[in-house]
Amino acid sequence: MHHVAASRRSQVADPPTVRHDDQSLPQAAATKDFDKGMTEMRVVVDFDLCESNAICMGIIPEVFEVRDDDFLYILNETPPESDRAKIEEAVQRCPKQAISIED
Ligand code: SF4
Repeated sequence: MHHVAASRRSQVADPPTVRHDDQSLPQAAATKDFDKGMTEMRVVVDFDLCESNAICMGIIPEVFEVRDDDFLYILNETPPESDRAKIEEAVQRCPKQAISIED
């Protein structure tokens, strides 16, 4: 079941893989105000490693979402400090070690 995502991903490798970048644009706009006052941590996912198994979504769905297209989307790249523990848990539990936090 989890292998489905991996094979899907290779099929999508041909067209320009802008999908993740695409969705981060409106997101960046949406979080602009939030970003202004304080610089929070930044959630980074290596989408080449990610196998879209949604473990991170299970830990903190406010930040990570795997959609029907089998791609992982970062809903909030700069989550508040109060989310840090959960995100660190996602970092540790991701079987592909695809998630990292930049401060
Ligand atoms: S836990 Fe890791 S591999 Fe799984 S969806 Fe999240 S980032 Fe991708």
